[in-house]
Amino acid sequence: MSNDNKLHTIAHTLSNLSSENYFSHLVSLLSEVTNADYTFIATIDAENNTAKSLAVHGKMGPEDNFSYPLSGTPCADLSHREVCCIPQGIVALYPDDPLLKEMCIDAYVGIALRNTAKVVVGILVALYKSPVVSREIVEVAFHFFSAPAAAEIERRNHENSLLLNANELRKKNFDLRIAQQVYDFMSDGVIVTNSHNDIIYVNDSLIAMSGYERHELIGTNPRILNSGLRPQSFYQEMWSDIEANSFWQGELINRKKTGETYPVVTAISALISANGSALNHIAVHRDVTSEKKARELIAFQASHDYLTGLINRYQFYSEIESKLEENTNGFNYGSILLTDFDNFKVINNVHGHEAGDQLLKQFARQLRSFCAEEDVSISRLNGDQFGIFCTNKNRTDTSVFARELLRYVNIQHKTPEGKEISITVSIGISFFPHDAEDCRELFTCAEQALEHAKTSGKNTIAFYSEEMKSRARRIDLLRQRIIRAIKEESFEAYYQPIIETKTRNLSHFEALARWTDDVVGQVYPDEFIPVSEEFGLIHGISECVTKKAIAGLLVINAKLTTPIGLSINRSVREFMGDDEHCSKIVEMIERNKIDPTLISIELTESMMVNNEAVAKKQLEHLRSLGFSISMDDFGTGYSSLGYLKKYPFDYIKIDRSFVSDMAEQQEAYILVKTIIDMAHNFGMQVIAEGVETLDQMDMLEVLNCDYVQGYLFSPPMATDKLMGYIASHHAQQISPEIEEMAAAGS
Ligand code: C2E
Ligand code: CA
Ligand code: CA
Repeated sequence: MSNDNKLHTIAHTLSNLSSENYFSHLVSLLSEVTNADYTFIATIDAENNTAKSLAVHGKMGPEDNFSYPLSGTPCADLSHREVCCIPQGIVALYPDDPLLKEMCIDAYVGIALRNTAKVVVGILVALYKSPVVSREIVEVAFHFFSAPAAAEIERRNHENSLLLNANELRKKNFDLRIAQQVYDFMSDGVIVTNSHNDIIYVNDSLIAMSGYERHELIGTNPRILNSGLRPQSFYQEMWSDIEANSFWQGELINRKKTGETYPVVTAISALISANGSALNHIAVHRDVTSEKKARELIAFQASHDYLTGLINRYQFYSEIESKLEENTNGFNYGSILLTDFDNFKVINNVHGHEAGDQLLKQFARQLRSFCAEEDVSISRLNGDQFGIFCTNKNRTDTSVFARELLRYVNIQHKTPEGKEISITVSIGISFFPHDAEDCRELFTCAEQALEHAKTSGKNTIAFYSEEMKSRARRIDLLRQRIIRAIKEESFEAYYQPIIETKTRNLSHFEALARWTDDVVGQVYPDEFIPVSEEFGLIHGISECVTKKAIAGLLVINAKLTTPIGLSINRSVREFMGDDEHCSKIVEMIERNKIDPTLISIELTESMMVNNEAVAKKQLEHLRSLGFSISMDDFGTGYSSLGYLKKYPFDYIKIDRSFVSDMAEQQEAYILVKTIIDMAHNFGMQVIAEGVETLDQMDMLEVLNCDYVQGYLFSPPMATDKLMGYIASHHAQQISPEIEEMAAAGS
């Protein structure tokens, strides 16, 4: 075949080669035409200055691909030469190319493969172990092969970059699909606008939030959602923020299609193009209507009373504080009025808590309407205590206001069952700036005034005074000293005899607390018992006195023919909680091996209000162990008879006020007689307190009063006086051995 014919056939073959194995076929054809020992085609990595073969052909067929650094090789020269042909002696020309030597190469023909932009993309090379004989033929063949080879490399490069782009696009698409799904499922509304700020996307939440259909929003300006409730300047600021930072966050008020407005916390971000202009804006809207409502509700609850809807104590304080602060040129006077129901506990107990709540609500309504014309703060402070702060009333005006209020609320109320109940309140008033200039102090003054109103007969008003201040100081001092005295067990037991009327025998000693303090001196129970009750310290005192009284009793009883009893005063409050105090008494008695039937527990009826069932259970328990229970101060409370039925009493102690009046007043005499008869009918025994005269004693004897107690027999005595008293008044009760011992000793 002539060379031309041969080339023609090759051209035909080349054009029919599939892209698969294209280069291996090409180099194999080239080696056939050029008769070279090796032919190969390689791409050039210009950056790393290396060549990487795409296909290699040797005498025996295809060989493994390789790559090699270009510098110092004839291939490097191809970048600036079209064809490089070295017919022989190449190793001498390129001594730095180790491959040539290794492969025993003598001649070299190479051609640069250029793409359409004339950039070298590859090389086509033939290597000979012996000199090239027909250089022209080889060069023609090379020119013939170089064009399709370069075209194929270029095609492949294109294909690769297309593939890369396609992959990138696929990935972007995937990311976008995820983003879209996130948007679609988001509970926040999403709006995307284009560079003209026309809406191009909204998610389902935004549609639900705004009430518009999707097609009504797409293509329009987001302004469609604007409620117009924010000033223009607000939006100007927003846009300049977006321009400066590509981001803005804040609260907008949007309008639904229905016209209803709703607050949205909004974040807007701008997508910026390479030239710096905004391509898109993405806005995320969170409807905060319910959060706002919840916040408002929480704020309301934090500052208001749930039952009456009035402001609570905390809010009352803060309103007074801010009014006082603003005061300077506002008002000259201010006053706090504290109101408190008289005997609210009784209403709760007798009519039930629901009736109590109704009453509080009704009272709140009354206060509101009474003060409707006034600039006042009204608060329910706690329980049945309400506060009013009013300004601009001088002392006289305040007094008139308070008295009118007292009259206004003093009307009949109806319980849920329709029962009529009448209530009265007491009012304590403190006055700004006279009593105090600061809210808290003013409040304390009003509290003290209220306390005073309560103790001076109720259904009344009291202004704060200096005496109240010193009384309050005294109470505070007592409280501190009582705490200390309890710790140091410095309360003493004094003993007052209780005499059996019939025999004139000593029956019991009543233990009475006595206290002399280093700082406040001697204080009487009438003063320190109420204070300790008020501050929950009564247990400590009772325990200390009981302990000492028992110790004294043991000493005395050891000297008597028959042991006498001990009456101890306990607060009924001690039996209203858990049975801690009840158990302590029992334990004390058991430890000292005292017969419980010798111990009587005196309870004052005025204290018996709350938690009756618990107290009753504990008292019944004590009674079942042998203790006896006495009702102290009978007749001074408001429902003495009711308690007689409820609690398991053994003794009634007639209050000394009745006894002292019975000789002069017929009514008192009849009352005492009635009490004694009634107690006997109930199977109880009677002790008359405060017997001071023989007249009284005679009367009580005629009336069959079982026991008597009072100064006529003895005042309360310290332990060291007891034996002397017994020896001179009840000598027959002293055991004979003791008398002998005493006689022998003296
Ligand atoms: P009470 O239990 O009614 O005690 C009788 C009070 O009348 C005692 O006052 C006593 O000294 C006084 N008294 C006794 N005989 C006469 C008399 O013939 N004429 C007059 N005018 N007074 C007489 P005291 O000791 O000052 O106690 C006052 C109240 O303090 C007691 O009244 C009792 O309720 C309470 N109390 C005393 N000690 C204790 C205690 O240890 N624990 C508790 N919880 N309360 C106590
Ligand atoms: Ca008593
Ligand atoms: Ca009494």
